[in-house]
Amino acid sequence: MEHRAEARIDVAAIASNISLLKAASGVDLMAVVKANAYGHGLVEIGLASEKSGADWLGVALLEEAIVLRTHGVRIPILAWLVSPGSDFRAAHNHDIDVAVASIATFNEISALKTKARIHIEVDTGMTRGGFLDEWDEFLTLDFSQVEVVGIFSHFARADEPGEKQNEAQLLRFQSMIADLAAIGINPPVKHLSNSAATLSDHKAAFDLVRTGIALYGLSPDIKTLGDSKSLGLKPAMQLRAKLHLVKKVPAGSPVGYGAAAVTSGQTRLGIVAMGYADGIPRIAQGAGVFIDGKRAPIIGRVSMDQFVVDLGPESTAESGDWVIVFGDGSQGEYTADDWGSASLSINYEIVTRIGPRVPRIYAPHVY
Ligand SMILES: *Cc1c(COP(=O)(O)O)cnc(C)c1O
Repeated sequence: MEHRAEARIDVAAIASNISLLKAASGVDLMAVVKANAYGHGLVEIGLASEKSGADWLGVALLEEAIVLRTHGVRIPILAWLVSPGSDFRAAHNHDIDVAVASIATFNEISALKTKARIHIEVDTGMTRGGFLDEWDEFLTLDFSQVEVVGIFSHFARADEPGEKQNEAQLLRFQSMIADLAAIGINPPVKHLSNSAATLSDHKAAFDLVRTGIALYGLSPDIKTLGDSKSLGLKPAMQLRAKLHLVKKVPAGSPVGYGAAAVTSGQTRLGIVAMGYADGIPRIAQGAGVFIDGKRAPIIGRVSMDQFVVDLGPESTAESGDWVIVFGDGSQGEYTADDWGSASLSINYEIVTRIGPRVPRIYAPHVY
């Protein structure tokens, strides 16, 4: 069966990005594959990353980590969004490292007496995950029933190089490492950098960098760090869809729900078989598709399963033709960055929200 839309994933691009990021940091690399590998496919990207030289995989949820293990991933995996009540025995049985960010979680893990592998998450200024108010009390606990593999924290503003908060977070991280050392705990794997810090701040690399967005070839922030091309990254996802229908319409035609747009002259419209159910943002304005060497902008509101583009009066496009929704931009097509800006959002959200109805096609094949 032919698809009406597909996300084509360039596995060689992932490998190339891993090489670039490893060279940039000079330390071990954790490929962050949470959230279905930012929409690219958890298992496929997890296995491809392992094959391409990633040293670790990182995920948010324990369930994600278990799926990776049951599909044969052998390198270390860290899951960091594990709350009290999680199945810590399963984590241990599957050889999955877990983050500990509260005394409650620590106590549950310790009580199993399995010498479970943990990474202590510390809040160095983002005020999200990690130890903050419980830190002093945490340092008084008994660590004999766990193996402290790592300590880590997360930057809030690494995409703003030179920002003072980054320096403050780095200093705080070092002082929390010293607090642990003072009670005789020296975790071998200290990690702080995300993609933005990996690309811009070498003193934050420590033993391991956790790269997500850059793994997929996208820039953490096009304004402050430059786009994929200037960073040497290769966007791995190309989203394409079929024109379900092409129709010639007169000037003054109201298009879509709410008649939010009206054609200014006679033109040809293309109906694209994707909508907000597939992750096309409903508010997107100023993006569109690429066909026959030209950009065709969105006209009117995006619907659940479809959106309409203005192909122009001279277009020879026909129903059944493929259009590129976004790609690496090398042909002049829109990019995930363009769709992010057009939706008052960021490239992260554009790729991550591509829905489950869109098949992912891998080339070259992973397995
Ligand atoms: C998502 C996430 C990352 C990856 O961030 P990118 O900006 O995509 O590189 C790293 N560490 C943690 C804790 C995360 O939640």
